[in-house]
Amino acid sequence: MNDLLAEKILHWFADHGRDLPWRRTYTPYQIWISEVMLQQTQMERGVEYFKRWLERFPDIASLAVADEEEVLRYWEGLGYYSRARNLLKAARILRDLHGGRLPADHGALLGLPGIGPYTAGAIMSLAFNAAYPIVDANVERLFARLFDLHRPVRECKGFIWEKAAELLPQGKARFFNQALMELGALVCKPRNPSCGLCPVVDLCRSFRLGVVDARPVLGAAKKIIPIATANGVLVREGRLFIQKRRQSGVWANLWEFPGGQLEADETPEAALVREFMEETGFQVGGLEKIRSINHTYTHYRITLHCFFVSLLDTRPEPELTAAQEYRWVQPHELGHYAFPAPHRMLIDHLLGDPAFQERLAS
Ligand code: SF4
Repeated sequence: MNDLLAEKILHWFADHGRDLPWRRTYTPYQIWISEVMLQQTQMERGVEYFKRWLERFPDIASLAVADEEEVLRYWEGLGYYSRARNLLKAARILRDLHGGRLPADHGALLGLPGIGPYTAGAIMSLAFNAAYPIVDANVERLFARLFDLHRPVRECKGFIWEKAAELLPQGKARFFNQALMELGALVCKPRNPSCGLCPVVDLCRSFRLGVVDARPVLGAAKKIIPIATANGVLVREGRLFIQKRRQSGVWANLWEFPGGQLEADETPEAALVREFMEETGFQVGGLEKIRSINHTYTHYRITLHCFFVSLLDTRPEPELTAAQEYRWVQPHELGHYAFPAPHRMLIDHLLGDPAFQERLAS
């Protein structure tokens, strides 16, 4: 059964596997970057980012000498910025301790920042064709259906990893692991799986029992936490005030427009005046609503209430309490800094907003 299953899946992959940039060479660096980039990212978007990244950072050496600011800018929009910071840290370790190469050693890979069992297995199998299983969300779903798992996937992870290892055909880890993930992504999709096109339909227990729609068994839904913030765009002599967040915590080292969370029963306007004073020492007023922006981040749903603000005091420089540095920048310079997604959405809005142009000119 195992051999037959593997053979059918490999055969299907040979005909249907997508032509992805890192599949042309299978270099360890490209596999590493693609695997990290594709976590929590849709394939099309991931490919776009991957190509752009490779143009700027074609290898470990070029990444290792980059500064973090630039690396974050190339990552902007993908979220989970610790992944980008870890890529940079790991590239420097590889340069200093491993001759600028990713080692073909599972244990050594696991010792690098940001590399866990999944990424280590992916590098070992896809780049070095070594016999390591890998399991992503596509494989979990595929196995939940194929083997008719009666419990939520997160309770069956041990079984799924063991099964993925057991199925690995000798000497074919590179193609088999990709084939499993690809079959899950393209055929055994989250909704409306294409069982009629599936190469293993005759081996699929859920299909045989008519319970495909009930697999995978769903666990408790993730609780979404709503958060409301107020953020202000302060313009002075044609320049905008931005600040760089602290080195740790959410959105570490990214730039932002000052602001923060609303307290209980506080209006966005009151919160913004308070936050500006607390974070920068600036007394602001004359608030004018720009728009509200909604953004979902892990299990948070964030609403940013955005305003233009005017400076009421005359102090020339801020006293930062929540940021490491600040700049007064011209609009065309905003592309040089990495911002969290909702702040970048605000920038995109501003650049087409006549009220913003008026403020710049006044
Ligand atoms: Fe998934 Fe359908 Fe194939 Fe079973 S037959 S593995 S449910 S696509």
